[in-house]
Amino acid sequence: MLAESDIRANYAAVRARVDDACRAAGRSPDDVRLLLATKTQPAERVAAAIAAGARLIGENRVQELAEKDAALAALPCERHFIGHLQTNKVNQVLRYVSCVQSVDGADLADRLQRRLEALDRTLEVLIQVNTSGETSKFGVAPGEAVELVAAVARRDRLRVRGLMTVGLQSPDADAVRASYRALRQARDRARDAVGLELPVLSMGMSGDLESAVAEGATMVRVGSAVFGPRPPAR
Ligand SMILES: *Cc1c(COP(=O)(O)O)cnc(C)c1O
Repeated sequence: MLAESDIRANYAAVRARVDDACRAAGRSPDDVRLLLATKTQPAERVAAAIAAGARLIGENRVQELAEKDAALAALPCERHFIGHLQTNKVNQVLRYVSCVQSVDGADLADRLQRRLEALDRTLEVLIQVNTSGETSKFGVAPGEAVELVAAVARRDRLRVRGLMTVGLQSPDADAVRASYRALRQARDRARDAVGLELPVLSMGMSGDLESAVAEGATMVRVGSAVFGPRPPAR
């Protein structure tokens, strides 16, 4: 387990990496938000990251949002959902997050819309795209993104802000970067076809955020570079 002082130093180092990547790409560091992926991290460590300056965290499991809520709800930090969302968890997830980044089908969009109508509120969403073609990954194929963006945009409680992807996991940096380029290109097509601005591109993780920033990421999602390696998945 990392000490809280390490979390602080790591957070600053990752933010500096993002800033450097922006400058290398001729972009402003203000244009890329840093989301901390906090899966498996106990609330105290997430709170340490917030104390170090984190203002946006992402959780993969509704259960973890619920468990950490008491410790984190009052802290100055926005929460997003970044994991695969089962339709039977929709009611719960809406208690905790301002954005669901993993909308990957019309059924899920319908469930969110109905619940949001009942709550009389709206929700920001991203459309998750599978840019790597790996069968283990969630998300619509890049060629289906336009259709899903259009379908979600017709649901008046959902505000489609852009696209999200978990890029290719590969030592081949060019292939990884190509998966991020594919997300930007899918966004550009959807923007032109649907007529929405779609400013958000959520892509890039600890090992490859520079490639994502070079391809236009406006939000990178980082876990292990701040919190250290995770225990094996449950
Ligand atoms: C865990 C996770 C990340 C961060 O991964 P790291 O390699 O630890 O930086 C980003 N996005 C999603 C969806 C994740 O589940």
